[in-house]
Amino acid sequence: MTSLDRLAALDLLNLDALHSDEEMQIRDVVRRMTGERVRPFVADWYEQGRAPVRELMKEFGTLGLLGMHLSGYGCPGASAVAYGLACLELEAADSGVRSMVSVQGSLAMYAIWRYGSEEQKREWLPSMAAGESVGCFGLTEPDHGSDPASMVTRARPDGDDWVLSGGKMWITNAPVADVAVIWARGPEGVLGFVVPTGTPGFTAREIGHKMSLRASSTGEIVLDEVRLPASARLPEARGLRAPLSCLTQARYGIVWGALGAARDCLSVALDYALSREQFGRPLAGFQLTQEKLADMALELQKGYLLALHLGRRADAGSMTPEQVSVGKLNNVREAIAIARQCRTILGANGISGEYPILRHANNLESVLTYEGTSEIHQLVIGQKLTGLSAFA
Ligand SMILES: Cc1cc2nc3c(=O)[nH]c(=O)nc-3n(C[C@H](O)[C@H](O)[C@H](O)COP(=O)(O)OP(=O)(O)OC[C@H]3O[C@@H](n4cnc5c(N)ncnc54)[C@H](O)[C@@H]3O)c2cc1C
Repeated sequence: MTSLDRLAALDLLNLDALHSDEEMQIRDVVRRMTGERVRPFVADWYEQGRAPVRELMKEFGTLGLLGMHLSGYGCPGASAVAYGLACLELEAADSGVRSMVSVQGSLAMYAIWRYGSEEQKREWLPSMAAGESVGCFGLTEPDHGSDPASMVTRARPDGDDWVLSGGKMWITNAPVADVAVIWARGPEGVLGFVVPTGTPGFTAREIGHKMSLRASSTGEIVLDEVRLPASARLPEARGLRAPLSCLTQARYGIVWGALGAARDCLSVALDYALSREQFGRPLAGFQLTQEKLADMALELQKGYLLALHLGRRADAGSMTPEQVSVGKLNNVREAIAIARQCRTILGANGISGEYPILRHANNLESVLTYEGTSEIHQLVIGQKLTGLSAFA
């Protein structure tokens, strides 16, 4: 069976039929591109702990994947569903590769597109959409992750300028970025700034020893009295709602992306179970293996329906942050369970880098934590159900 036939066979409910021809074409383009430019190399990138972010960004830009769901300023203006399908195919190759695209488009570009001045949009969005400029998004701090309202990075007005001091931690793309969207506490609440990374006082170092998302660049940013002109502030961003709205965009991409990692694991495990024999028959012929495969295929299809529902709501302008929490919590949780279950089917080979499964499982540990941990999404849903906030 070819890999394309295998993917079609996993679509038990024929969910592809719910898509337009255009959506399927976009999916196939991304699938082809990752098959040629990412999959053959990503295990080595992962092992070496680095990926050619700048080269990949240019290729993703050429395909129109950066800021794909934004319109104007060189952005393609594709639908939310098309963007979701792209995230799924990217993450089927590697979560780190999907992360670099998500951070560029849904966090850094979206922040400028939604909250920036005309001048900021013209300066940054076309080159970011083309992948010529790389962006990052600094919200998390060493001592403030799930609770960004407690951030200690400060923005101090000084004449016409702003001066930023503090630090950001775990920032995707930071070590290679040209521009950083930095969130800092000003005199009247949280403010956003567009910071060229060459500004004196701005430094970003690569975080080493990661056991997850190794084919992605993650950095720590130090802001040592970074002086910026007034024009660097995002004029429309006032309060924590602004960065949180960017996170909603990125979380939406994760709802789809996690399914890609899970699908890749299931497809590899199914092939393996059909070809590997023990006790004189293929592993796939044992009822216990079929139980695992059936349950995983079920969760994958249910997760897909959930992602597609959210995507259609996003395209209709009616998707809410709580609904995105439902999608992120469910699909990442199920994806990581699928990855771990698939690992068991491969036995000892399941821990080998020759197969992608443990790489996906390890990557999904980061996906479970970033853009709101699973616990935080449970609390968001709990608040929606009860009207009581357990965390704010
Ligand atoms: C690979 C990677 C890339 C990242 N990229 C970015 C990026 O580009 N930009 C960015 O700004 N951030 C980024 N992050 C940071 C990420 O968003 C944070 O790690 C995340 O928000 C959690 O914060 P924390 O790690 O400080 O954990 P903590 O907030 O310290 O949480 C630790 C544990 O306590 C739980 N917990 C916390 N509060 C509560 C509560 N009230 N009730 C119950 N449980 C609670 C959490 O769910 C978690 O299980 C990245 C992280 C990783 C791992």
